[in-house]
Amino acid sequence: MSSILLRVILVLSMALVLAGTGLAQEAMGKKTRAVAHRFAANNSLFVLYHEVGHLLIDQLKLPVLGREEDAADNMATWTLLSKNTPAAHAALADAAYGWLLSGIAYGSNLDDSDYYASHSLDRQRAFHIVCLMVGSDDRSFRAIATEYAIDRDRQDTCLWDYELINRSMRSLMASHQPRKARTAQVRITYHDVSGRLRNAADAFRQSGVFEQVAAEVERHYSLNKPVEFNAKRCGEANAFYDSDTVEIIFCYELMEDFISLAAKDLQSKGGLHLGPGAGGRISQ
Ligand SMILES: [Zn+2]
Repeated sequence: MSSILLRVILVLSMALVLAGTGLAQEAMGKKTRAVAHRFAANNSLFVLYHEVGHLLIDQLKLPVLGREEDAADNMATWTLLSKNTPAAHAALADAAYGWLLSGIAYGSNLDDSDYYASHSLDRQRAFHIVCLMVGSDDRSFRAIATEYAIDRDRQDTCLWDYELINRSMRSLMASHQPRKARTAQVRITYHDVSGRLRNAADAFRQSGVFEQVAAEVERHYSLNKPVEFNAKRCGEANAFYDSDTVEIIFCYELMEDFISLAAKDLQSKGGLHLGPGAGGRISQ
């Protein structure tokens, strides 16, 4: 074999190896992206149920003895738990981990304003979702409660937390069932967006969470006023309920933030599992 031919073969085989590596990286990139998008969709779903909690508290004039933000979280968690499907359980696990990650990303320098804020701390919100999970069904959710290092005594008393919310939500659902003539009406609008937020906006729309939650609100509740669901650029990563316009606003920036939190975590761990794992991200 001539040395020129040998060199050509070597160059060709190097090119094949590099092309193979490139393809593998692209495939891994696609998988990572798919996991990050699913995580973002699940977190968006939880946020939407939370905002629907505010909507119901306002429109149905529900009594709330405690912080409204905690009540809205409890309503979101209960709604997902009551579905009792693998998809809903995965959404709850992702929502809890979402709060844990945002607590780590944005909560390193807490001051008094965080303690007197209307929301519980992100990290508390994560633990409370898991507490209600294990409180609702200790056999199914013992593993995740242990992954979050919630001690056995607290895991056991989470049953009482869950039972109180379950009783309250069942009573709420029973007393506000829609009559035929007057079901809730929800109108969905996706506002156009260009530039950096385009991908997040597309991913949010494709997730279908607006349609899913809108259909459930229409099916389960009788509301006097029409409800608007608006997805748009807000200038901040957030979601809101506006009682003046009876409108839930979901910001594309929030979807982008969820995708980025997941992608960074997956990158740092070099895998495709999002969760605290044994002795993993649970420590601050
Ligand atoms: Zn809220």
